[in-house]
Amino acid sequence: MIKKFNYYQPTRIIFGVGRRKELGIWAKRFGKKVLVVVDPNVKKFLSQQYQEMLDTLKSEGIETVVFDHVIPNPTLDSIQEGAEIAKREKVEFVIGIGGGSAIDTAKAIAVAATHEGTAWDYLYFKKEPTEKTLPIIGVPTTAGTGTQTSRVSVLTNTEEKCKSAIASDNIICKVAIVDPELTLTVPPAVTASTGFDVFTHCFESYINVNNQPYVDVLALEAIKVVIEYLKKAYDNPKDLEARTKMAWADTLAGCCLANVGTTIPHALGQAIGGHFPHVSHGQSLAVVYPAFLDYTVEWAIERFAKVARMFNPELEKVSDKEAAYALKQEIVSFLKSINLYYTMEDFGIKKEDVKDLVRHAIEFPDNRVNPRVPDEKDLEELYLKSFRD
Ligand code: NAD
Repeated sequence: MIKKFNYYQPTRIIFGVGRRKELGIWAKRFGKKVLVVVDPNVKKFLSQQYQEMLDTLKSEGIETVVFDHVIPNPTLDSIQEGAEIAKREKVEFVIGIGGGSAIDTAKAIAVAATHEGTAWDYLYFKKEPTEKTLPIIGVPTTAGTGTQTSRVSVLTNTEEKCKSAIASDNIICKVAIVDPELTLTVPPAVTASTGFDVFTHCFESYINVNNQPYVDVLALEAIKVVIEYLKKAYDNPKDLEARTKMAWADTLAGCCLANVGTTIPHALGQAIGGHFPHVSHGQSLAVVYPAFLDYTVEWAIERFAKVARMFNPELEKVSDKEAAYALKQEIVSFLKSINLYYTMEDFGIKKEDVKDLVRHAIEFPDNRVNPRVPDEKDLEELYLKSFRD
């Protein structure tokens, strides 16, 4: 029997090498004046490609206002700064060019520029942004967050030391221009942490209690691609085939996020990111993954076994239970192969910090859709097991 499911994905996906040159053509339907929210490193490392995109906008008669104060793990302050510019300049839509941080900044600006209060007032558990939200185009330059196809924008309130998210169909990108050439300049460490993020979106959607057949197909395809191509992209940043495959996996992963979503690691990881902004999103996930796998395996044997066998076909020869329990070692080896295997000490996090992290992590609904639902004590243990000793 195929179980009941809902699936919604309204983004027009423009995928393929060189497609950035079509930005103007796809943008013109949204108006004559745009706020381009761009990562400063994109301006620096992809200056020619960035200029090409601006030129396509110009050639379609679109006036551009540029906001480049994007910071990794975007803060409310930078979003509000961008929103003020969007309001003052009366832009009709926004384009985010960069990694998750730039596109999420663009999404949050699209909300803050059109609604009362600040973007922080529209977190998923507060008020939902309305259809007044400015149209958003996402042009990813990392293969990681899937934000070009997800319904989420992650932001950090530095005063509250809290990382949280807006989640709404009204912030889904109208158009995603996914041009793998834009990821060729991503340095290996960022390739590793963003690429592992792709895996986590798919794996957690696949084992999520709300898993569903449509997303299963996308998740398993993307997991297969990450296993085969992430290390290649890490070892050889200019490998266009590997970059293209990772951009594909990333885009599928965003659809998984939009329609099922993540579990415990994202609750634990977002709390780490809120308290320790120097830890990248992918690193914050990698550090808690081994403990999370131990904690969950017995509650999801079949699905863990399926993924373990994708890492290591030899596990076809053993029982589901044995294969499921082998997944942790497969993932640890994978993390080590891309230099992403950490313990909490590596980030300067101390055991005394754990209570604060738990207080934050327990708030996330991600916990309640894990096959085994944790309480505060469990989350504390998961953090403590992520230390070296
Ligand atoms: P990022 O956007 O912060 O970029 C990481 C680093 O790579 C930055 O220093 C950036 O300047 C640089 N960079 C980006 N593209 C580059 C390129 N082509 N060449 C050279 N350098 C480049 O990283 P990210 O992992 O893509 O995004 C992380 C953010 O996204 C976090 O805030 C995370 O919580 C959030 N996130 C959002 C979603 C979602 O659905 N909205 C999902 C997961 C994570």
